[in-house]
Amino acid sequence: MSGRRYVGRFAPSPTGPLHAGSMVAALASWLDARASNGLWLVRIEDVDTPRCTPHAAATILRQLSDCSLVADEPPLWQSQRGHLYQHALDQLVAGHRAYPCSCSRKDIELALVAMGRTRERNTELIYPGTCRDGLHGKPARAWRFRCDGGVVHWLDRRMGAQWQDVAQDVGDFVLKRADGLWAYQLAVVVDDADQGVTHVVRGEDLADNTARQIQLQQALGLPLPSYLHTPLVLGDNGEKLSKQNGAQAIDTSDPLRVLNAAARVLGLNPHAGQAADALLAWTAQWRLLQSTV
Ligand code: GLU
Repeated sequence: MSGRRYVGRFAPSPTGPLHAGSMVAALASWLDARASNGLWLVRIEDVDTPRCTPHAAATILRQLSDCSLVADEPPLWQSQRGHLYQHALDQLVAGHRAYPCSCSRKDIELALVAMGRTRERNTELIYPGTCRDGLHGKPARAWRFRCDGGVVHWLDRRMGAQWQDVAQDVGDFVLKRADGLWAYQLAVVVDDADQGVTHVVRGEDLADNTARQIQLQQALGLPLPSYLHTPLVLGDNGEKLSKQNGAQAIDTSDPLRVLNAAARVLGLNPHAGQAADALLAWTAQWRLLQSTV
């Protein structure tokens, strides 16, 4: 990473307007880039089209600009970059790191039961590797990454040393879905590399994707960015705020109020006055805080 110019990014999925939690990640990634005199990019992660809502991207961009968080380049849209994801998939297939899979969710569940692995989390099934050695005449539905065995170690700038055995905890994960849509893991890795992103700053809810992304970066011969996962904002019920559990869209008509709330989560002093002055003060404070960790 050393020697490369700092490039950071905020990469919202346009499944709804920004909420208090996503604002924390936006502010932290902006501050980190500014504190390093780097570039700050915005990428609209609209590959999961069924989950995207009309106008959400425009609303997100307006919310950011209301808060003076303006990207250094025009935003990039993942929905226009399928050719790059296909190229990466081709490269992985050629290197025997990706393979077609015919399994439906039901097939995976049945295979896990047959293996006596019935107590696995049923939201994200650990793929049992059924199609690793070929389709045996069955039609391809999705494409999967062939995980390396062994533990992936990585360092988070806030959370410290992290590790995960991807093969054991996740299994061979999907790169291209049965419905033809590109999976987040592949798109994010391809785009971070293509945009020269050196520093990923995002919410802690995404931290457990990092080991998978590192395996993909290594398989594609891409540089590894550094990672910082920001604290989550919890709702009144103690659960993390997310669009899925109905987090309120933030009202950016009073940008300083919004920014102060996000800054507090990041351990920065609330500010009175203008949003632009607050951002300047926090950039200096952020630089200081980061230099002492
Ligand atoms: N698009 C993802 C989200 O909104 C974030 C991806 C990332 O920052 O790596 O949850």
